[in-house]
Amino acid sequence: MTCVYIGLGSNLDNPKSQISRAINALEKLPETELLRCSSLYRSKPVGPDDQPDYINAVVMLDTTLSALTLLNHIQAIEDQQGRIRGSERWGPRTLDLDLLLYGDERINNKHLTVPHQEMHKRNFVLYPLHEISPGISIPGYGPVERLLEHMDSSGLEKIISA
Ligand code: ATP
Ligand code: CA
Ligand code: CA
Ligand code: CA
Repeated sequence: MTCVYIGLGSNLDNPKSQISRAINALEKLPETELLRCSSLYRSKPVGPDDQPDYINAVVMLDTTLSALTLLNHIQAIEDQQGRIRGSERWGPRTLDLDLLLYGDERINNKHLTVPHQEMHKRNFVLYPLHEISPGISIPGYGPVERLLEHMDSSGLEKIISA
């Protein structure tokens, strides 16, 4: 079994229910067990700011799926929830699922970069990740606890406690 973390985000079409549907879908993946879910957080959009606020969360899973198979599954869940892959980078979306960590592996190929390449800079990833795994480290970047010492939490609001 490999312990993996997935970051969830939504800012269209009832974001809170998009996130809870996605968590249910992740729980049903083959060879996979859902271990922990963070609270929901509200965050300001990255990139184009003429779009609604996001709802974010992070979940922890155990799986025997490979990283690439897991990526295919999470993209299928995005598609099932009406994700339209538009041309605008970081544009609004019903559901975004990012594979943040896959055990302590570092993966770099044309489909997948793990650890997720922006996660160490994003408060809407690090706060929920720290909430469910306070002792965790990001390969190449160190303990999340340490990264949070320099992280601004402005624009981020915890909205539902776990
Ligand atoms: P960001 O990656 O900065 O959060 P985004 O989530 O909006 O941006 P997407 O359009 O959802 O980006 O994904 C673009 C591509 O990123 C996907 O097709 C996928 O192949 C690739 N990708 C690379 N690494 C990862 C990862 N760790 N998790 C999810 N997708 C990844
Ligand atoms: Ca725009
Ligand atoms: Ca993303
Ligand atoms: Ca994504």
